[in-house]
Amino acid sequence: MREILHIQGGQCGNQIGSKFWEVICDEHGIDTTGKYSGDAASSDLQLERINVYYNEASGGKYVPRAVLMDLEPGTMESIRSGPYGRIFRPDNFVHGQSGAGNNWAKGHYTEGAELIDAVLDVVRKEAENCDCLQGFQVCHSLGGGTGSGMGTLLISKIREEYPDRMMLTFSVFPSPKVSDTVVEPYNATLSVHQLVENADECMVLDNEALYDICFRTLKLSTPSFGDLNHLISETMSGVTCCLRFPGQLNSDLRKLAVNLIPFPRLHFFMVGFAPLTSRGSQGYISLTVPELTQQMWDSKNMMCAADPRHGRYLTASAMFRGKMSTKEVDEQMINVQNKNSSYFVEWIPNNVKSSVCDIPPKGLKMSSTFVGNSTSIQEMFRRVSEQFTAMFRRKAFLHWYTGEGMDEMEFTEAESNMNDLVAEYQQYQDATVEEDGEYDEEGEENYDD
Ligand code: GDP
Repeated sequence: MREILHIQGGQCGNQIGSKFWEVICDEHGIDTTGKYSGDAASSDLQLERINVYYNEASGGKYVPRAVLMDLEPGTMESIRSGPYGRIFRPDNFVHGQSGAGNNWAKGHYTEGAELIDAVLDVVRKEAENCDCLQGFQVCHSLGGGTGSGMGTLLISKIREEYPDRMMLTFSVFPSPKVSDTVVEPYNATLSVHQLVENADECMVLDNEALYDICFRTLKLSTPSFGDLNHLISETMSGVTCCLRFPGQLNSDLRKLAVNLIPFPRLHFFMVGFAPLTSRGSQGYISLTVPELTQQMWDSKNMMCAADPRHGRYLTASAMFRGKMSTKEVDEQMINVQNKNSSYFVEWIPNNVKSSVCDIPPKGLKMSSTFVGNSTSIQEMFRRVSEQFTAMFRRKAFLHWYTGEGMDEMEFTEAESNMNDLVAEYQQYQDATVEEDGEYDEEGEENYDD
C-alpha cells in the first residue's frame, strides 16, 4: 500500500478539497456515510487501490485520509454540515478563530504559527497509521493568508519531518478578474518562493484561466467560485486518476515527478482538461479520441493563463479515461507531436507519455487530462511578478506584513527567486541540442528565431 495524505487549508483550499472528495467518493462508489455502494461490475477497479486515499475503519467504512485546517471556523463548519460532512474524521478538523485577513504573514508567522502544532499532531497520527506513505497533497490558494501563508508553513514543516516523502500541491493562483484584494500578488509571490524550495510538484490552477474558460468557452456571464471549482474538481480527479486506479503510467507521486521534472525547480505544471463542461451540463457531451486529443492540447483548455505556443514543452503526460482504443490514442498523440514538433524540446526524446484508464469520470463517456511542463508557464509568473513589483517599488501595504514581524528582505528574496524561475524557463526554452555540440553539425532544426 502506498498511501497519500491529503491536507486542505484556508477558504479556497477547503472548498476545492471537499469538492475533490465528493468527486472521488462518487468515482469509487463510496457514499456519504463512507460505505461502499458501487456497482458490482466495476467494484474490483473501484476498490483495488482505495487505500491510496482512504483508511478502512471498523464496520467496513472508508474514511478519507484528510486533514482540514483553517484560521477561522466558517468554511469548515459548512463542510461539516454539508452532504459529505460526516465522512471525515472529526478529529481531523483543526481551526482557529482569528482569521488571517488575507495576510500571508499572519498565516506563516503569527496566527498560523500558533495553530501549526495542532495540525502537525493530526498529520503525524495519520502518517503513523500508514503502511508506506508515498507523500502528501495540499490544496490551497496562494492569494489569501491561510492556505497561502499557513499552507506553505505546513509544507516546510512536513518537509523537515518527512524529507523523503513526496509533496504535491494543488495551488490556486490569484487573478484580479476574480478577486478584489490588492495584496494577493504579495501573498502569491511569498508562496511561490516557498513552493520552489519545499514542494516536489505543483499543479497550477490559475483563477485567471478558470474565469476565462467559464466566461468565454462555457458562456457563463458571471462565473462564481462554484463554477471555477467545478473545473478544478474535474481536473483534480483527472490528475489523480492514475494514482487511484490500477495502471502503469504515473502510478505514484514519484513516478509522476520522474517523468515530468527534468530540473528540480521547474516543477510547476500546466493542466488541461477535455471536454470542458459547466456544472450540470455533463452527459450531453460525447467526443471522439481525435477531438479529445485536439482539445486537451488547446491553450483554451489550460487551467493556467499562458499560451503553450509561446514556449516549448519540456515534458507532458496525457491521461485518457473511458472505453477507447489505446492504439487510436497512441496514434493521435504521435500525430500531435509530429505536426507540432517545434513546440517540444528536441533534447528530451520521448517526452510525451499517455495512458488510458477504463473508468470515465461521472457524467462523461470519456475525458482526457493533460499535465504539461511548459516553459510558457513563465507568462503567469511574469503577470504576478509585475503586479508584485508595481506595489513593492513604492512599498505599498508593506506595513501589514512588517507589523507581523516580517522583514522587507523576505519580499526582495521572494521577488528575485520568482524572477530567477522565469529566467530558467526562458533559458531552457532557448536551449537547443547543438549548443553542447553533441548532435550532428549539419544542424538539427533550430527553433531559435
Ligand atoms: P484564506 O482562507 O486566507 O486561505 O484565503 P482564500 O482561500 O479566500 O484566498 C483568497 C484567494 O483565493 C483569492 O485569490 C480568491 O480569488 C481565491 N479563492 C477563494 N475561494 C475560492 C474558491 O472557492 N475557488 C477558487 N478557484 N478560488 C478561490
